[in-house]
Amino acid sequence: MSQNAVKRLYLMQVGSMPEYQIPIVCYLVQTDDGKNILIDSGLPRIIPEDQREFVNGQMVFEQLITIGLQPDDIDMVISTHYDFDHSGNHGAFTKAKYLVQRVHHEHAPGNARFAATCPQWDQPMERIRLVDGDTELLPGLELIETSGHVPGHQSVLVRLPKTGAVLLTIDAVAFREGFVRDLADDGSNADAEAIRASTNKLLDLVEREKVGLVIFGHDPEQWEGLKKLPEYYE
Ligand SMILES: [Zn+2]
Repeated sequence: MSQNAVKRLYLMQVGSMPEYQIPIVCYLVQTDDGKNILIDSGLPRIIPEDQREFVNGQMVFEQLITIGLQPDDIDMVISTHYDFDHSGNHGAFTKAKYLVQRVHHEHAPGNARFAATCPQWDQPMERIRLVDGDTELLPGLELIETSGHVPGHQSVLVRLPKTGAVLLTIDAVAFREGFVRDLADDGSNADAEAIRASTNKLLDLVEREKVGLVIFGHDPEQWEGLKKLPEYYE
């Protein structure tokens, strides 16, 4: 018998970049003892002026309602990073603490990239739990520090009773074709070295932990074939 506390993993598409059919997604983890843990919160209700290539779909609140959950039923929000398509509604889950890498939280105020959703993530400190590096939150749920996309980005490892280990790479690896060892530097990102290191770290983890399902952050082709809420992985 598995001793994992995690029972279910839901995937939901909450928005997109229609031009490339890129999905914007959130995840929900449910535990045996009835906890609801949201991973990211999607695009903000009002899309910033300079980000009009993104559109909201069925927002996270609406999707949660279809499985009987209100915002106050969310016990914890895992914040992978503060890009606006991942942190757009953190403030709405008022009963939840949100968890973020300390490095990221301390970096964000000085980086204009994260300004769009600042009111969402700049919450009173009693609402935030800062974590340092790889962290087991509870049996079957681990945060994996994967800097590169941004400093202090985190991915999530979920161990399910039937499906086994599932890795949510988030934006450490946005597309399947990027999941290769010693990724070449195409010059598009100043942090190519960190991206390569994090990608290698996740490839090692997949081998070591026998991960059966790797879900990439924004991969349209893979996303098509995955189960979405109300379906779930168990
Ligand atoms: Zn993203």
